[in-house]
Amino acid sequence: MPSPALAQDLRALLGPQGFLEAHPQRLSYESDALGLVAQVPEWVLLPSDTQQAAECMRLLAREGVCVVPRGAGTGLSGGATPVAGGVSVVTTRMRKILDIDPVNRLARVQAGVVNVELSRAAARHGLFYAPDPSSQMACTLGGNVAENSGGPHGFKYGQTSRHVRGLVWVDARGEIIDQSDARLDPVGLDVLGLWIGSEGMLGLVTEVVLDLLPSPEVSESMLAIFGSLQAACEAVTELIASGLQPSAIEILDKLTIDAVEASVFAAGYPKDAEAVMLMDLDGSPAEVRELGEQLETILKAHGSRELRRATDPEQRRRLWAGRKGAYGAMGRLAPDLYVADVVAPRTRLAEIVALSTAICAELGLPCANVFHAGDGNLHPNISYDRRDADQVRRVLLAGQRIMAACVERGGTLTGEHGVGLEKRDAMCMVFRDEDLAVQERVRQALDPGRRMNPGKMLPVRGCREMRTRSPYLPGMKEYDA
Ligand SMILES: Cc1cc2nc3c(=O)[nH]c(=O)nc-3n(C[C@H](O)[C@H](O)[C@H](O)COP(=O)(O)OP(=O)(O)OC[C@H]3O[C@@H](n4cnc5c(N)ncnc54)[C@H](O)[C@@H]3O)c2cc1C
Repeated sequence: MPSPALAQDLRALLGPQGFLEAHPQRLSYESDALGLVAQVPEWVLLPSDTQQAAECMRLLAREGVCVVPRGAGTGLSGGATPVAGGVSVVTTRMRKILDIDPVNRLARVQAGVVNVELSRAAARHGLFYAPDPSSQMACTLGGNVAENSGGPHGFKYGQTSRHVRGLVWVDARGEIIDQSDARLDPVGLDVLGLWIGSEGMLGLVTEVVLDLLPSPEVSESMLAIFGSLQAACEAVTELIASGLQPSAIEILDKLTIDAVEASVFAAGYPKDAEAVMLMDLDGSPAEVRELGEQLETILKAHGSRELRRATDPEQRRRLWAGRKGAYGAMGRLAPDLYVADVVAPRTRLAEIVALSTAICAELGLPCANVFHAGDGNLHPNISYDRRDADQVRRVLLAGQRIMAACVERGGTLTGEHGVGLEKRDAMCMVFRDEDLAVQERVRQALDPGRRMNPGKMLPVRGCREMRTRSPYLPGMKEYDA
């Protein structure tokens, strides 16, 4: 338990807006969007810049207090869930866009800037920031770095790691590390690579330097309508094999379409379709025209019964509002939503989507699919009620079985939501103890006291032990309750 003297110093440093100690204020930080695991933090600290964040960390180091970094808390794997006796250090008051350099196409931002705000600011210079998570109206760029986030347009433009050019962070001792000099050809060890996707376990990111791209001359959206989800998945496999490069390929299944169309996000998706595929095409007018014709040929040959094209910005906005609002729309189905996040080889999309649905059906759970099909990043979504302990048990079991099915077929555990608490033990499905020990050594080199986000991402027990305990599958342990 941190001491009253520490509280006094932090209060003096951060003021009443930056130091939350009353229980009702701390309560809203007890979990992230996974919701299933919760722990109220001892205090919530909201520094407003790098210097203040460093001073906070120095004070916390004095008493060896554990720190959980947090952005907007939209993470879906429990990465920002507080730890008992620890504090949450939140970046949402660090929301300044510090510089946009249109000539070098770079932006320098504080870590708490909301993703969509950067794209809005860049648009004034004819530029855009490519990674666009569906949570982009809320999630922070620091959180995107920590999770190596993707989004619909990751298919063409890549995930966050492709766009980070520099970082400033504060380590567990309160040292400021500045790796933000975005020269074209960096030398030395790829420390940024180590950082991206490290889920808050190496320190607190306070500033990020990001690449901006020129806005495409023309952008168009295309909606392909299918009579079966299987056909839509097979069409994606063909489309990728053909080498065509739309900027986004998303699929929504019937359950999702029904939820979206009954909600405020209604996008005009046909209610009698079993699946729709939403794509974006961008480039020069000639490129977009040619790509559109090629896509039409392939999609019609692979079962699309109708294709709709949208060039008008309002029509396009509406089509995408349906996709980006899909999780919100599912709130109509049940109080809670479990969003699985696995990656399937793109040659096996149809097989793994069918398997996920069968796994859920066997456990008596509904499964809606809305996913980044172009990246093979599947999101089987299970609506449930967390007040029902047996439902929770079955939901977690379904999540584990879906991960195992995916890994067995050449896929992996997470595409973008991170490992956090939820998939920590499942790391043993893809790594051996020896592999994980290397990751642990790196982490210990940077945070010898293991005070940064302890208990996340890296299994706390050895994989060999967990495999022995596994009742039904080599490589995993089932949740008991
Ligand atoms: C409706 C919905 C849709 C989503 N769609 C997508 C999607 O399309 N693509 C995608 O990739 N994700 C998606 N997500 C997941 C989530 O939005 C992303 O993982 C996002 O990057 C998290 O950002 P955040 O600011 O909310 O981070 P948080 O949830 O606050 O934290 C996430 C992790 O990052 C760490 N962290 C946060 N900030 C920092 C920092 N400054 N320094 C060090 N560590 C830090 C935390 O400790 C935690 O481990 C979605 C989530 C929701 C709820």
